[in-house]
Amino acid sequence: VTGARYHAALAWLRDGPAADVLLEVSAGRFVAVTPGVPAPPDAERLAGIALPGLANAHSHAFHRALRGRTQTGRGDFWSWRERMYAVAAALDPDRYLALATAVYAEMALAGITCVGEFHYLHRDPDGRPYAEPNAMGLALVEAARRAGIRITLLDTLYLTADVDGAPLAGAQRRFGDDGLAGWLGRTADLADALQDAPHARVGAAVHSVRAVPAELLGEFAARTTGRPVHVHLSEQPAENAACLARHGRTPTALLADHGVLGPRTTAVHATHLTDTDVTLLGGHGVTVCLCPTTERELADGLGPAGPLAAAGSPICVGTDSHAAIDLLAEARGVELHERLRTRLRGRFGPAALIRAATATGHAAGGWDDAGRILPGARADLVCVQADSPRTVGVDPASIVFAATAADVTDVIVDGHRIVHAGRHATIEVAEALRTAIP
Ligand SMILES: [Zn+2]
Repeated sequence: VTGARYHAALAWLRDGPAADVLLEVSAGRFVAVTPGVPAPPDAERLAGIALPGLANAHSHAFHRALRGRTQTGRGDFWSWRERMYAVAAALDPDRYLALATAVYAEMALAGITCVGEFHYLHRDPDGRPYAEPNAMGLALVEAARRAGIRITLLDTLYLTADVDGAPLAGAQRRFGDDGLAGWLGRTADLADALQDAPHARVGAAVHSVRAVPAELLGEFAARTTGRPVHVHLSEQPAENAACLARHGRTPTALLADHGVLGPRTTAVHATHLTDTDVTLLGGHGVTVCLCPTTERELADGLGPAGPLAAAGSPICVGTDSHAAIDLLAEARGVELHERLRTRLRGRFGPAALIRAATATGHAAGGWDDAGRILPGARADLVCVQADSPRTVGVDPASIVFAATAADVTDVIVDGHRIVHAGRHATIEVAEALRTAIP
């Protein structure tokens, strides 16, 4: 690992591709990045376009088991959710380790070097804590280690079934904790357990305003200061209606009133917002994580991406339900959805979309030193083939509008090679998925 030198035909520096870039890596970080130099004989040559590491800012690993099984037929978000609960009920820590390892390996093949895992399967299917109360979360962290990627475990507070405080029932029972105090104790133990896991860190999440009583939000915010905090926000109009009826304000306003919004907060989806919500989110510097594939898959609607960015919210992307794991598709989906919403082209250019898929996504998980190719940053590289049937003839500056996950050939994470010539270094990914999907 120490002392590696790479020479990229093209590398994405700052806001676009540069040619003939010498990349020097030591102890998992870039120590020198020099464009416009010929390849020295001792440097490994990287073909195609070398992008910074991609960050998948919103994942529920177990949803991968639903791909291609819920796409047909009628229904909405809520009927899909019933199918998702059935998969959740089939998982124990060993099965989840196998499934998540395969899912994270699929992410690695797609150039994802870091995942934000929004984790709420805390207990057994009957709602009893495991002997090791963090068994499921630790399985996810181990899965990321095996796949070779970094993880921010966004350990999720999920206490109620709806905004009226209804208790968790049925499949939701395993999402719970013994109140906020129970969650605080469990996540403190988790952070202790992961002190020596350099690929992992612990963040926090409010599942949604449905799942956490409003009177607990203030203490939650106070106890999670400085950590990444994520929250599902206004994915469905029904959530807004219930919140307005109960609290007399929108979910965004409720979170703002209790101090949950800030520059370390990431709002996931942010689909059905008022103009005031947009101003609140942007004004607090809240990052917004869009998941375009999932949002159209679940018939969610189109969120105001352009106004959010204009108001001050950095935009990142996630694959959420894993109907597909292709972060390049998610990135261009931000612009393509904005075109559908506004009937105008060109709100988000290639540099903004690559930033969403890289640096902003990493920062949303608390990895401020990743997602850029520059000295001092973590040495992540994602090589995208520039002469595939999909990408040949494409202007390298516009690669985000053409390439797919299948065009990723080589992936380096923290200086370690995890994908070579389109194959994972240690995992037969399709076979691992086949055996792990319930
Ligand atoms: Zn989600």
